[in-house]
Amino acid sequence: KFNTKLGQHILKNPLVAQGIVDKAQIKPSDIVLEVGPGTGNLTMKILEKARRVIAIEMDPRMAAELTKRVANTPFEKKLEIILGDCIKVDLPYFDVCISNTPYQISSPLVFKLLNLQRPPRHSVLMFQREFALRLCAKPGDDLYGRLSANVAMFANVTHIMKVGKNNFRPPPKVESSVVRIEIKNPRPNINFTEWDNYLKVIFLKTNKTIRANFKSKAAIDTLEKNYKSWLSINNDGDLIMDKDALKNLKSTVEDKITNVLNQTELGSERPSKCDQLTFLKLLYQFHQEGIYFS
Ligand code: SAM
Repeated sequence: KFNTKLGQHILKNPLVAQGIVDKAQIKPSDIVLEVGPGTGNLTMKILEKARRVIAIEMDPRMAAELTKRVANTPFEKKLEIILGDCIKVDLPYFDVCISNTPYQISSPLVFKLLNLQRPPRHSVLMFQREFALRLCAKPGDDLYGRLSANVAMFANVTHIMKVGKNNFRPPPKVESSVVRIEIKNPRPNINFTEWDNYLKVIFLKTNKTIRANFKSKAAIDTLEKNYKSWLSINNDGDLIMDKDALKNLKSTVEDKITNVLNQTELGSERPSKCDQLTFLKLLYQFHQEGIYFS
């Protein structure tokens, strides 16, 4: 009956469902977005608290079941079901987001929320345990990496409860956890794509030094390409037409990397131990040298 390709693991324990809704601290004036309502076990509890609920569901059978569940109840008028893929649809404004998230869309959902024009007050989301722990990890933690540093720039994430697999039907293969995501207000004005591309280089090898990662062939190739396009934008292409400049591009980029690492004195640090503000400082210095990552 359940389509596990769509991550359909229904939360069957009402105490866990209530726990999630309580942690979302819904006010009577709130509009709540629920991603993937399924048969509505969370939705019914959200409807008791919120002014309005917008539920986005991809599976028409589930949407039909939920429609039936609220039919002829006082909740009927409060609930709007949008049939579609929550990653693709334009999201309306909402105050709180709640989701027992289909695991395939964990990462795109987080980044979609972080990218919203008007972010919600907070989001309470269930993920696979490891993904949840990566989101919350701090420098020095085993699971700290690119995802942790990326998200930490834009939001504060806290782990709020563990949920064992037997609370679901059918039980998933792995354990789950619920986290709360509070997007920073104001959100730092940093280009998402650049920040992510940059962190890819920083975290090429998590336990190597930042210098080793930036001196790797993969990093130099990327930076060379970026610098070349930056030059073409800034100099109307004059410089890249110059054969000598092109020949020296690689060593120019290598020198710039050395300068940046010397000036910031961050070359010997390991990315696994640094926080996002340290990475931002380093990025700022790259910009001073004309090296961008998008
Ligand atoms: N919220 C229900 C619960 O807790 O019992 C169901 C959760 S189940 C893990 C995930 C639900 O998300 C399923 O109903 C599935 O059909 C739906 N879904 C999967 N991918 C989706 C997407 N991209 N957009 C919207 N809904 C999606």
